[in-house]
Amino acid sequence: MKKTEIVIIGAGVVGASVAYHLTRRGAKDVLILERESQQGKGSTGKATGGVRAQFETEINIKMSQYSIDYFANCDFDCGYEPRGYLFFATNDAQFDYLKRSVEFQKSLGVKDVEIVDAKTIEEICPILNVSDITGGSFGKHDGFINPLAVMNGFTKNTLENGAKIEFDTQVLSIETAGGKVKSIQTNKGRIECENVVLCSGAWARELAKTAEIDLPVAPQRRQIVWAKSQKELPKNLPMVIDLGSGFHFRPARDFNDAGANSEKTEVLFAYPDAEEKKSFDTNFDESFIEKVYGKAKHRSSFLYETIPIFEKCRAGLYENTPDHHAILGICSVEGLFFANGFSGHGVMHSPATGRALAEIILDGEAKFLDVSCLSLERFAEGRLLHETAFI
Ligand SMILES: Cc1cc2nc3c(=O)[nH]c(=O)nc-3n(C[C@H](O)[C@H](O)[C@H](O)COP(=O)(O)OP(=O)(O)OC[C@H]3O[C@@H](n4cnc5c(N)ncnc54)[C@H](O)[C@@H]3O)c2cc1C
Repeated sequence: MKKTEIVIIGAGVVGASVAYHLTRRGAKDVLILERESQQGKGSTGKATGGVRAQFETEINIKMSQYSIDYFANCDFDCGYEPRGYLFFATNDAQFDYLKRSVEFQKSLGVKDVEIVDAKTIEEICPILNVSDITGGSFGKHDGFINPLAVMNGFTKNTLENGAKIEFDTQVLSIETAGGKVKSIQTNKGRIECENVVLCSGAWARELAKTAEIDLPVAPQRRQIVWAKSQKELPKNLPMVIDLGSGFHFRPARDFNDAGANSEKTEVLFAYPDAEEKKSFDTNFDESFIEKVYGKAKHRSSFLYETIPIFEKCRAGLYENTPDHHAILGICSVEGLFFANGFSGHGVMHSPATGRALAEIILDGEAKFLDVSCLSLERFAEGRLLHETAFI
């Protein structure tokens, strides 16, 4: 039987960040286990690559502030581009919500986030029909990152700092004794360990159950349409989001090929389809194309006239919690830690998450940022958070 001090289950962006922050702090014996033969096969490889501080809850805003600052200054190329996020409202209630949110974001120190009128919205995004838009908000430092580059940057650094990664290794169960983590069972044998960090994305619940912990993380398919236009997209197009329906679009970018020049004429668009049930299905369903174009028709004739590129449309999994916030930290089993349930924000929050987990494991609590409101306990204690702007 092998022995390791800290085992991280899952080598997506979150597992890679946790390992990176642990080894930066001097942790020596860190082993990442990944069931696939390479990284990026989970949700990280499907993400749109958006990052924003325009949230409603203090914890989401602070996680984003920390992470955006990290992306802007990190010592590897993570593809951070502050193109902005433009939210727009189509009624007074939505616009009031954006006004309140922007005030709150500013009070927490978010810079360059402003309320904008329909005319300004049209200037920022000239392909939008603004006839029924009441107003919006624009955050200049929000924008794009390359999810694969973030994951690869964390991984390269942590491997250089002594962590190890094993592929084709599926964790089957977490074994406990006397209320503590004792070992894990994998398809390649048992590994004795004192600490396990569950970073297995949408697949976390079943593994937590093997340690008799109920982790409320549910998988849900999210689909993205990739389309090509005859004309060039407006220059510096940001992420654009209809607050009411969640319909959103951004210039397309092939994260596997950072040099590809697709963004001039290619666009990604999507919306959260309320008909999607809990499921691990990651097949792209072509009927979604018609639904998305239905949303685009009124909002942008430019988008409506694009042609979908079927082979580039994709589907991945959100890892939803009941309050659409992450679950970070400890549980009643000593040595078992969670970094799960990002509900669609795991890439953008990966720097803050990695640091929080490293501090919780090594120091007993996250000192750089109080993340205690994201504990698993909140569900049993009825301390659920509330965020309207989850997309
Ligand atoms: C369509 C789409 C768009 C998105 N857009 C954004 C966005 O714009 N911005 C943003 O921040 N987030 C976005 N997300 C969400 C984001 O992708 C996730 O929150 C993030 O990737 C979670 O990272 P992770 O490392 O926890 O999970 P994953 O990347 O899924 O990694 C988990 C890993 O665990 C492995 N694993 C699972 N079970 C086991 C096991 N038993 N043993 C060993 N290994 C195991 C898996 O193979 C996988 O590699 C999007 C998601 C989707 C689907």
